[in-house]
Amino acid sequence: MARLDRAGASEILDLVHDAIIVRDAAGHIVQWNLAAEQHYGWSRSEAHGQRLCELLGCTAAAPVSDIENLLLSAGLWEGELTRRDRNGREMAVEARWSLRRDRTGVPLHIVETSRDISHRRRTEAEARLTEYRYRNLFQAMAVAFWEIDFSGVGNMLRALFADGVTDVRAHMLADRQFTRTAMTRSRVRDVNDKTLSLFGAATREEIVGGTVARFWPAESEPVFIEAVVASAEKRPHYITETKLLTVTGAEIDVLFTVSWSPESRKEGVILLGVIDIGDRKRAEEAMHGLQADLARAARISILGEFTASIAHEVNQPLAAIATNGEAGLRWLDRPEPDIEEVRSLSARIVADARRAAEIIGRVRAMAEQRPPQRTLLDVNALIEETLLFLRHDLKSHAIAVSAVLATDLPPIAGDRTQIQQILVNLAVNAIQAMADLPVERRRLSVHSVKAAGRSVAVTIEDEGNGFAAGAEARLFDSFFTTKPSGMGMGLRICRSIAEAHGGTIEARARSGGAGAAFTLTLPGASWDEAVAAPGEVDDHTKV
Ligand code: ADP
Repeated sequence: MARLDRAGASEILDLVHDAIIVRDAAGHIVQWNLAAEQHYGWSRSEAHGQRLCELLGCTAAAPVSDIENLLLSAGLWEGELTRRDRNGREMAVEARWSLRRDRTGVPLHIVETSRDISHRRRTEAEARLTEYRYRNLFQAMAVAFWEIDFSGVGNMLRALFADGVTDVRAHMLADRQFTRTAMTRSRVRDVNDKTLSLFGAATREEIVGGTVARFWPAESEPVFIEAVVASAEKRPHYITETKLLTVTGAEIDVLFTVSWSPESRKEGVILLGVIDIGDRKRAEEAMHGLQADLARAARISILGEFTASIAHEVNQPLAAIATNGEAGLRWLDRPEPDIEEVRSLSARIVADARRAAEIIGRVRAMAEQRPPQRTLLDVNALIEETLLFLRHDLKSHAIAVSAVLATDLPPIAGDRTQIQQILVNLAVNAIQAMADLPVERRRLSVHSVKAAGRSVAVTIEDEGNGFAAGAEARLFDSFFTTKPSGMGMGLRICRSIAEAHGGTIEARARSGGAGAAFTLTLPGASWDEAVAAPGEVDDHTKV
């Protein structure tokens, strides 16, 4: 093989990507290839004869003298240096130095190969920073974080797709075993401290390394399925409220987030964020309880105002029972008892007793404490009942009532007692608003119409003194009252009942004269509700 001459060797050195620099024992540069020119910016002619470590700097973790001693003893050194190029730009350099000696062992040259690793160092530093930030967030947030290795589930999904399954959701809903297996293949890689406290674990090991299955109650399986579907559909995240289990099996209400970053998706890793919403849930429940208590208190206070009316209403059938009973006895006491007469009187007694029982039943329903029940309701029947309920009071206040009720109303789905409460409340307010009017102006009108979008609108109007212009909205505020013994909760409760039924209640000054008009709008029952709810529509039980 032919030996290369000097020029040939230098040509080869110029083909190499690494900088190759040869310096003599005193540190003067004697060789400087093309890559060295490109890396450091100095030309070959400029570099030749210069002392390398003065030209570029040779700062390393250890002092350069230590490195040179090492080089003398071992003949080789590898490590990282910090240098500056011709423009003064600091660069990180990975270098390898090799010592050449002459035949007698005297150091002759140091051959260096080096490359710029600044870019790599920067990316590593950025990655470290990102990881640091992520870890910091992972640990410091008031959110329980879980890193889950989802690759096992990924494999299960791939097998499903290979079998021709396209609808993952339907498949998982139908195959519970698949869902549970997918849970046992979702391995916990890491959790933060918040997870330990929220899920009641004393040590990380109680959770990390295991699977998510034990934390998933059966009722929350659809959430797991949705998370898998979201992953299959490559959605960036999925958020919902659900229930999970602690290590002791206690249920907790949580806001559950699952997210994937493009990088973590490649590794099959997902991040779960779990926020405890138990306090909020408990507060909401307490709030609902409080509202229910208030609504009941308001109903009882209305009943209190109408005790005289109620007593009167009950007394009527009772008096009729007594009269009919006595008449029956007289028919029986005759030398020839008239059985037919007694039979018809007994029938009337039974009807009156039923009527009295129904009135008591209504009063009890108003006073009762029970969760709201949804049934199908005929609004017109409720209006008629309300007017009957208040009949005695309307009469004693000499109020003329007119009712115009549409015949084409759809049924509504709702709680009978609550809707009745709204109607009674509005009518009572109207009666009170007209208490000081001359008798001929005491008129109450009620009408029901079918309103937009298959809803039902009931308007109760009076010709009383009305309210100040612009006060419409304030009437519905808690504790807003203009009455000496008013509680100011009636309309507030009416509005919350209406809203809970998907409806609205609005006040306006009556057009064309004094007085107020309140309109309650409730959505007509949907087809599903009409099918599912027990009907009361044909049950026109009256007081
Ligand atoms: P309360 O009857 O205890 O005052 P409500 O919430 O039922 O509580 O009513 C709040 C206020 O709204 C009443 O005090 C009254 O000022 C006004 N209001 C309600 N209904 C009418 C009405 N029909 N006409 C005039 N003002 C009314």
